[in-house]
Amino acid sequence: MPLVLAAQAPGQPEIFASVQGEGPSAGMPVAFIRLSRCNLACQWCDTAYTWHFDGDERAHRDETTFDRKINQVILQADVAAERIERLGQDRLVITGGEPLMQAGALAELLELLPDMSVEIETNGTTAAPPRLDVRIDQYNVSPKLAHSGNAADLALVPERLDAYATDPRAFFKFVIAEPGDIDELLALRDRYRFKPGSM
Ligand code: SF4
Repeated sequence: MPLVLAAQAPGQPEIFASVQGEGPSAGMPVAFIRLSRCNLACQWCDTAYTWHFDGDERAHRDETTFDRKINQVILQADVAAERIERLGQDRLVITGGEPLMQAGALAELLELLPDMSVEIETNGTTAAPPRLDVRIDQYNVSPKLAHSGNAADLALVPERLDAYATDPRAFFKFVIAEPGDIDELLALRDRYRFKPGSM
């Protein structure tokens, strides 16, 4: 099953080595793979080239849309795995977009990378199927608050947040834009009982 990767230049899939910038592994050297597509549409999204394609009328603050031919690259799992292995890292960060939209292809990819530890960055609206979940060492979950512009019933899915809140591999990140957002965050914390140290 092929993977649809993000690209910022034609034919240049985003597979690269860098330093993790967030979560408990911040500062660690890692390999990144950035997948295209997202099931949400945050108006301040800084990777809108992964989903805000020409013809998509959902709002985004930049009002720019992107050409799929330029900003998507399709790779077979074995080709993506080889590129990742060539980076020589022990840990892989899977990001997007919303990478769990391609869970089946990701499971195939990780079967080709059996020795890598893996973290995945997700908006928390979707579950990884067991074949993929078994390979994930860390979930970086970023639920989106009202200021993202997404409808709450799309962005905050109770059964998913319940599951991540009780998963010891999950760590939460929230984007706060103004003081009122903190009240929404605290209400979520109280409702889902995010564990100490996971936020
Ligand atoms: S969930 Fe993430 S990738 Fe998707 S629109 Fe929001 S910020 Fe962008």
